Amino acid sequence: MKMKNWLNVDDHHNFSMYNLPFGMFHRNGPTPGVAIGDYIIDLRFCAEKSLLSSLSFDTNVFSQPVLNDFIATGKSNWSALRKWLQEQLSDANSALAQNQNEALVDRPKAKFYVPVHIGDYTDFYSSIEHATNVGKMFRDPENALLPNWRHLPVGYHGRASSIVISGTDVRRPNGQTKPPGSDAPVFGPSKRLDYELEMAFIVGSENKLGEPIPVDKAEEHIFGMVVFNDWSARDIQTWEYVPLGPFLAKNFASTISPWIVTMEALEPFRTGSVEQNPPVLPYLQQTGNHNFDIQLEVSLTPEGGEESSICHSNFKYMYWSMAQQLAHHTVNGCNVRIGDMMASGTISGPDNGSFGSMLELSWGGKNQIVLKDGQSRTFIEDGDTITMKAACKNENFTVGFGECSGKILPALR
Ligand code: CA
Repeated sequence: MKMKNWLNVDDHHNFSMYNLPFGMFHRNGPTPGVAIGDYIIDLRFCAEKSLLSSLSFDTNVFSQPVLNDFIATGKSNWSALRKWLQEQLSDANSALAQNQNEALVDRPKAKFYVPVHIGDYTDFYSSIEHATNVGKMFRDPENALLPNWRHLPVGYHGRASSIVISGTDVRRPNGQTKPPGSDAPVFGPSKRLDYELEMAFIVGSENKLGEPIPVDKAEEHIFGMVVFNDWSARDIQTWEYVPLGPFLAKNFASTISPWIVTMEALEPFRTGSVEQNPPVLPYLQQTGNHNFDIQLEVSLTPEGGEESSICHSNFKYMYWSMAQQLAHHTVNGCNVRIGDMMASGTISGPDNGSFGSMLELSWGGKNQIVLKDGQSRTFIEDGDTITMKAACKNENFTVGFGECSGKILPALR
């Protein structure tokens, strides 16, 4: 199936007709939009002009500063709006085409907002390569994975207040660290600032407190996905994380990409699950394909310098699927709410160039990561910009996420 469109957006554009992701951009305040090529379709304008009157939900949801109320209208309405947009973009005489001067906004010039109110954020640890690499470096190379790792998707509750949109500068955190060989901790700027290459999904429908989401229904509770950078201060983390896990090493900032790509757009890129051995408990068992082939890339750009690609990975490497993460998260009766964000954990692949953090790429700071201009890094320096890109590609079309980018500012003194 090939879809023509009057904007002549190429099928291999990140924001092709096959994508149509949702975001919040600036036009007299936060405004809901859908990306198509180099444009944004202003949904608030479409609602106000009654262009959406054929849809069977209250389009006043598009006068809200976040997408939560739209998401709450349900999966059939997300799908109906997507179909309406594809039809309007295919027909040069459509109502949208006739209103294009006002309904379309330049995407590359746009400013973005965090698109949903995120009530709660959870970070998993679901890449076996990442967990194994970290276990080898910090614990026992022979028993890198802790005994629970292959039995449950390990996670922790993170902090939603410091999730920021791509393009927001991030200040290097100060904190307490214990330098190797010293007897007492010191206070100051983190010296081992790192990124973590992750994807995150956004909860699209809720469960009642006390009622778990079964694994075979879990995908229906997911609205879509974004690229996620879980900035991490390794030296703060090393000193603080036992016994209760990540705290100030993680909660100073996390960055997300502006566009939420829907599960419907990702459906053509569904791929085989990783074999889980030993078999998981019945409440986590799945049949069929539950991973997604999403190509990932990380680059580092020094202040005023050239962009160097430092990692290529893929979301398909995940050991635990999103459905298993959500089933596990709720199996005790914990309720999730619309807009909640669940991050995957660092996505490392099998080879060295696919490791999703500088901790792994530099192997704990032992190896230099060489950049294009001859500079090298073990961890992030002030003025460096980290950019993550994600896209699904097949022979017919592309469904891209765009960028998740952030620059590091010097710590406060
Ligand atoms: Ca993480």
